Amino acid sequence: MLSRTKLAGKDFHLNKTVIDVNSLKIGGDDLIIIAGPCAVESEKQIFETAKLVAKGGANILRGGTFKPRTSPYDFQGLGEEGLRYLHDAGKAYNLRTISEVMAIQQIDLVAKYVYILQVGARNMQNFDLLKALGRIKKPVLLKRGPSATYKDLLMAAEYILSAGNAEVILCERGIRTFETYTRNTLDIAAVPVLKELSHLPIIVDPSHGTGKRSLILPMARAAVAAGADGVMVEVHPEPDKALSDAAQTISPEAFSDMVVSLHAVFRAIEENRHCEP
Ligand code: PEP
Ligand code: MN
Repeated sequence: MLSRTKLAGKDFHLNKTVIDVNSLKIGGDDLIIIAGPCAVESEKQIFETAKLVAKGGANILRGGTFKPRTSPYDFQGLGEEGLRYLHDAGKAYNLRTISEVMAIQQIDLVAKYVYILQVGARNMQNFDLLKALGRIKKPVLLKRGPSATYKDLLMAAEYILSAGNAEVILCERGIRTFETYTRNTLDIAAVPVLKELSHLPIIVDPSHGTGKRSLILPMARAAVAAGADGVMVEVHPEPDKALSDAAQTISPEAFSDMVVSLHAVFRAIEENRHCEP
């Protein structure tokens, strides 16, 4: 039988965990918007993206520089050079930053450049990596594995928490099901379920969750309506030219329109809080 959570569960504390990222509060009263390309491709690309997503209402700039690609022949990311560009672009446009860490040896390097470290779906149960991230003093965004149950995700979070890092953000990014029309099946129920089981903030990633540009807006709205603390979306100045995940990447214009819509949904939900049981 799966053991119970000690630190990730509501029995540890009932109040929501609010994570302060240089005065930006994740899990607090505001909707958090994380945006940026799948991968940092060049200095010009990330600066251009940062400028446009900042204008469109993003709080946090994303961009992978160590990329977990399905094929070893695909673009693997710029490594430290990309982290430097991401850091500088975030600084220039007053955005916090997030990037993926794939291995223990990369932790110090990634932590030197970004505010939040991301654990990708494929590494959700890389327990040694999770333990090592439990020993750092930066927030970790933990993505749900493609075949992980809610309990699996919470127990993975427990690894980070029990090693001493209380700043864990959960991320629903779709799971593998029999449906192949979408890249993954974005599990919106994960939001209320994880809110019921845990005090940790939850972010939804409709980009990897659907794999399709046309589905980002409706699924992002659904995530916010379901009570997510924020969304993470892939945005590129020229989406069709993105070196990775082009099909699920939206333009800065589509992004700006989406943010307006998400804030409207967020406000509507806030106004309806009194209807909740
Ligand atoms: C990403 O966010 O860049 C990514 C690779 O996502 P996932 O780990 O959810 O596939
Ligand atoms: Mn991607």
